Amino acid sequence: LLVLGIESSCDETGVALVRTREHGVPELLGQALHSQIAMHADYGGVVPELASRDHIRRIIPLANEALAQAGKALEAIDVVAYTRGPGLAGALLVGAGVACALGAALARPVLGVHHLEGHLLSPFLSADPPEFPFVALLVSGGHTQLMRVDGVGRYRLLGETIDDAAGEAFDKSAKLLGLGYPGGPALARLADFGDATTYKLPRPLLHSGDLDFSFAGLKTAVLTQARKLEGSPCEQQRADLAASTQAAIVEVLAKKSLKALAQTGLDRLVVAGGVGANRALREQLNAACAARGARVYYPELALCTDNGAMIALAAAMRLQGGVEAPNRDYAFDVKPRWPLDQLAQAA
Ligand code: ATP
Ligand code: MG
Ligand code: FE
Repeated sequence: LLVLGIESSCDETGVALVRTREHGVPELLGQALHSQIAMHADYGGVVPELASRDHIRRIIPLANEALAQAGKALEAIDVVAYTRGPGLAGALLVGAGVACALGAALARPVLGVHHLEGHLLSPFLSADPPEFPFVALLVSGGHTQLMRVDGVGRYRLLGETIDDAAGEAFDKSAKLLGLGYPGGPALARLADFGDATTYKLPRPLLHSGDLDFSFAGLKTAVLTQARKLEGSPCEQQRADLAASTQAAIVEVLAKKSLKALAQTGLDRLVVAGGVGANRALREQLNAACAARGARVYYPELALCTDNGAMIALAAAMRLQGGVEAPNRDYAFDVKPRWPLDQLAQAA
């Protein structure tokens, strides 16, 4: 089965082609990606209307690129998958519209995919894929959740952020440090030159006893410290603040992930979403998990942030597992808000 996947939920346009295999994980045959980061940078964040318009411009050329890479003709596609939500409504509509038009034109079924399920399953495309069951730490720009995953479509929420997402905490702190948008990677680079013990920043909910997170208070603490630095442009102090901020976020994520492993009795942790690219987080999780005999799995670095491959993969795994059948209802809708555990119930 050849599955074309289209991602357009936010500021990345991605198209990819995967092929299901009789045994094992689907195989990635081709993928193309365009990030709108440069376009939105001037505005300090994603401008929804601009995002939608750019998806329209990019999506067909990217599809052609992915098909060419795979050496496949359009007619070879068996199923067209697209991100149905969550995300920006206008941006989602572009991907859904193109996918359903393509499906109708080729007389092929379509399948709407949950964006977070894409992130969650993306480590299956790595050279060393995990096995079910596992605990998943989903850390992206809009979400921070711990999940128990027993199989495709079998997701149980263990805990989540009650305010900002981890990626948001990185981005907002980076903005306060004058690092532009999206600041997560830039803050991580600056942190390399800093001393993480310099500033005592809060670790919200670290000892709350549950698996929830909170990052809004951290942002306020960073703001207070950043204000003190204004007027004294000392590069070392900025680096120290960046390192201290990263350390606070990483410590909470790591401690709660380990707690989730202990609570579930599982020994596999899967990390997905953009913040999963963070090196400090990987180092801390690797060390902590090794110490308790658990293993950590990550997506390939390039597949941590949004991409079409994870959408094609999630669709293929759902079809393969018989969790869902594609349909020929081309009157699509999108779900800008869509909790992942609701998907599990529907499956
Ligand atoms: P969602 O998937 O929740 O809808 P999203 O798709 O915008 O949100 P992703 O694309 O998964 O999120 O990830 C983007 C986030 O990851 C941004 O907040 C970005 O700053 C953060 N990020 C990416 N690389 C790093 C890094 N090396 N260190 C810290 N944060 C990072
Ligand atoms: Mg993005
Ligand atoms: Fe995402």
